[in-house]
Amino acid sequence: MKEITYSSTRGADECLTASQAILNGLASDGGLYVPDHIPVLETGLQNLARMDYRHVAFEVMRLFLTDYTDDELRRCIDAAYDDKFDTEEIAPLAEAADAFFLELYHGATIAFKDMALSILPHLMTTAAAKNHVDSEIVILTATSGDTGKAALAGFASVPGTRIIVFYPKDGVSPIQKQQMITQQGDNTHVVGINGNFDNAQTGVKKLFADQELRKWMEERGMRFSSANSINIGRLIPQIVYYVYAYTRLLKEERITEGAPINVVVPTGNFGNILAAYYAGQMGIPIAKLICASNENKVLYDFFSSGTYDRNREFILTSSPSMDILISSNLERLIYHISGNDATKCRTLMELLARTGRYDISDDMKAKLEPFAGGYCDEAQTLNTIKSIYESCGYLIDTHTAVAAGVYRSYREKSGDKTPAVIASTASPYKFTGSVLRAIDPEYSSDDDFDKADRLYELSKVPIPKAVSEIRTAPILHRTICEVDEMEQAVKDFLSR
Ligand SMILES: *Cc1c(COP(=O)(O)O)cnc(C)c1O
Repeated sequence: MKEITYSSTRGADECLTASQAILNGLASDGGLYVPDHIPVLETGLQNLARMDYRHVAFEVMRLFLTDYTDDELRRCIDAAYDDKFDTEEIAPLAEAADAFFLELYHGATIAFKDMALSILPHLMTTAAAKNHVDSEIVILTATSGDTGKAALAGFASVPGTRIIVFYPKDGVSPIQKQQMITQQGDNTHVVGINGNFDNAQTGVKKLFADQELRKWMEERGMRFSSANSINIGRLIPQIVYYVYAYTRLLKEERITEGAPINVVVPTGNFGNILAAYYAGQMGIPIAKLICASNENKVLYDFFSSGTYDRNREFILTSSPSMDILISSNLERLIYHISGNDATKCRTLMELLARTGRYDISDDMKAKLEPFAGGYCDEAQTLNTIKSIYESCGYLIDTHTAVAAGVYRSYREKSGDKTPAVIASTASPYKFTGSVLRAIDPEYSSDDDFDKADRLYELSKVPIPKAVSEIRTAPILHRTICEVDEMEQAVKDFLSR
């Protein structure tokens, strides 16, 4: 098997192994790590169709993580995709509304970030051991709700790691807050701050850059690391479920071997859809990659015009995990469509930082051919939830509804009837308020748990453990601090 190395999209001349790239997270020049080539699947699709999720994960990930031994990789996979997921299938497909919904929300926090964050801690601690880094890894995160909880759940009780999450005390939903403050695991620490998400984010960045704090940690045998979505160790595990989805359709004889499928992804940071693009490069026959945006439609505009422009009003929508104006993982696609030209990529990213926009050349635009962009406004999003629920009895969340709505328009306009897989990124119980507004607009309550009960009454979709458990779980994290006390909060916890 050919060794794969990782380098920066912006040209810093580091050339790393997979495990080193995972440990570093971000390249020294601010670029993202990319593989020197995309490996082609070695196992035939029919063989993959006979394997379970863990085996497919192994066959895909070993091609990228070439410096991990088979044993190391198997251990990471087995530790991640176990009974933390509420179904053996890990990522089941459900057929509804002329499409196949790939349910990526059966993990600990009922959203798709669990797919990668349940394995990242294991990839990271294995990477540390391989590279003779014997420091304890300390993950530091600021969260507006979802990512923090998924990272907590992933790192909880993983030996050799600690995780500290800061959230805005009054800036997350009651369920999100309850999820975080009931988090178990002695190595977890959750702190509410008197401030908003930006304050928390800025505070965390400062701590990462603080050389004195770094030294203080080194003396105690610790080092910071980041679990955010640009780590290549989050991207690679996401390729797996697209390979898995294709081979399930094959197994169930919904398609014949080699027949193309379309893939529709509700997109924010561009990580999930980039993973689908990589799956295509590996040999999964994907005809169209349909990139679905909410009203923050920077990506739709980019795919239609070749201009990326973040200079616009930021809109709060009912699909908050897609309320993003800078899609950081798009940098990897820009690098690839420029013919892996790091100089070109760096120039465009510097333009983006300086002016908030950039244009790509006609040559690069031509390489966007596999992509189709679309977007859904708020009314269409809620309407899509309602119409799929009423016509098929199938319930989806707001993010998935953006994708389903975009797909419906795409199919009507293009007449393209290629079988489609829609990435279903969150359980409807994660966004109960908005989902109820779509299917039962008369209902009103201030209590998120009452809303969950109402949703169950109507839909009979079982309430996931992730929601029912936290109702009565003991509160384990009560620390609240001011923004300028964050460093002390970190030191206090790390001195325990
Ligand atoms: C993070 C997230 C998305 C967006 O995924 P990206 O990889 O950032 O494009 C979509 N839906 C949900 C529920 C999410 O949590």
